[in-house]
Parts: sequence; structure tokens; C-alpha cells
Amino acid sequence: MKTASRIVGTASFIGGYFAQDFPVYGAERRGAPIIAFTRLSDNPILERGIIVNPDINIIADETLLKDSAANVLQGTWDGTITFVNTHYTASHVKDTYQVSGKIAVVDITDIALKIINKPVLSSVAAASACKLTGIISRDYLQEAVIKELTDINLKKEVIDKNVQAALTCFDNTPSISSPDLKFSEEENENKVVQLEYADARVGSARVYESGNTIMKKTGNWRFFKPVIDHDRCSRCRACFVHCPHSCISLDESGYPHIDYDNCKGCFTCMDECPKKVITKEREVRAW
Ligand code: SF4
Ligand code: SF4
Repeated sequence: MKTASRIVGTASFIGGYFAQDFPVYGAERRGAPIIAFTRLSDNPILERGIIVNPDINIIADETLLKDSAANVLQGTWDGTITFVNTHYTASHVKDTYQVSGKIAVVDITDIALKIINKPVLSSVAAASACKLTGIISRDYLQEAVIKELTDINLKKEVIDKNVQAALTCFDNTPSISSPDLKFSEEENENKVVQLEYADARVGSARVYESGNTIMKKTGNWRFFKPVIDHDRCSRCRACFVHCPHSCISLDESGYPHIDYDNCKGCFTCMDECPKKVITKEREVRAW
């Protein structure tokens, strides 16, 4: 999402707008939810800090809508366009999660898997955001994807796939006109938006023992879940030993079982399994 916000910012800049983009995240922990922002305006932007009331809200993982700690709808209002990465319909998502304002949905994970062969969402999420602004063209998007991914030293063939996926996503994202979207801010205040204080019990990882987070089940960080083929498992315990969350327990016969409430989908177990009997299955929902 950090790279997505950069792509949107760069595309805006290429399109002649002023832009800011920046992420906010806590302790680095692969798979944990993060938030990133992009501001754009046709005037110099004096405002600093997080965006409290977004005009466009891109939710890259539908399962976060169920996560009260992530609170991904915070600050949205009737004028917000909320975009959700899901294979469900817009009306289903709107009703299920009581999303206010306008809503757009595209299964951008599916597009990434088909074209990039990996569930990497930076270019595709950025493409949806660009489309929803109504002012960033395909050409600006393409140029921005190439620039940002070149800057992080990706190979040309990977960048080409990202461009293709981004343009596909751009074309699949509906055009939603929003009279509330303004890119000329009349009251462009020179102000700093302060981050809200988050209690340390919510704002940081609290791990009291292996595989046990009291306030947070990390199972909804997954896009894919590991599945063990017990018929071919040799009970070597490599997965059990290497799982960074200690989400794998052994039954009385020594067979490993995964705690899906907490498995975050890192696939260390799959990489470590010498028999290659752990496979990856895509999940629509983690729960
Ligand atoms: S994918 Fe495997 S190693 Fe990673 S958290 Fe889940 S069970 Fe543990
Ligand atoms: S690493 Fe593979 S073979 Fe070994 S116990 Fe785990 S699933 Fe079974």
C-alpha cells in the first residue's frame, strides 16, 4: 500500500498536480495491516499529516472490514468513494459492512494473480485509486508504475506485468462521478493534522506467549492459507519448528495442525517442508 500511494502520487504529479504521499505503520511485521495516504491538489498543498476524512478510501483486503482495530472505514463520510478488493458485489459489501457513501469493487487480487502471478497489489490498487479520481489518465498511471517500480529495481518483465495488471484494473474499475471530489482546495489551510493517540495495547503487538496475541487474531492478514496433506506428511516437524507464530501444533500421533485463527499466511512452513506437502489455497475470507 505504501508503493500504491507512491504510484498515485507520482501519477498525479505527472498529470500536473501537486501531490503528497506517505505511509503510517508501526513495528514492521510482514502481513500486518498498514495505511498509506495520497493528497493531490492543483494548488500547493499546505496541509500536513494524515488524511482524516478521505475522499477516496482504498481497502486492499476485504477482511479488514471486520477488524475493529484496523477500523478501515474511520473518517469516511457520505461523499467518500470506498473501494474494496473483493469478489463480492458492491451492494453485498455495502450492506454487509454498512459502508456509507459510494462504493466500487474489483477483485484486484484475482487480476494480480492472473497477470503478475503473485498477489502483489501495489500497482493494481493504485490503478483503482487513479481511476476513481476521475482526473488521472491511463498514460499517467502507466508512467508512474514504470517509474516507481524501476526505482525499487524490479526487472523489466516484472514491471511490464505490473503495467498490464494496472491497466486491466484501471479499465475494470468503474467511473464514479463524485461532485464532492475537489482538487482545487479553496480553503487550503496551513495546518498539521495530528495522529490520534492509540493505546499501546492496540497500537503495538502484545505477544504474551508463542502463537497467542490477546487482542488480535492475525488470521485475517492472509490472502492464502497453507493446507497440509496429512497423507503424505512424514511428521518431521519442520513446519512446527519454523512457524514464526507457533501456529502449528502436533496431535498425539505427531501430525501437524494449523491454527487458522492466527496463521498469518507467511508460508514459511511451506518453504521449510522437505516433503513439499503444504500447499497454498486462495481464501476469499480468512474467517
Ligand atoms: S503460513 Fe505456516 S509458517 Fe506462516 S503463520 Fe501460517 S502456519 Fe505459520
Ligand atoms: S514439514 Fe511437511 S512433512 Fe514435515 S511435519 Fe510439516 S507438513 Fe509434515
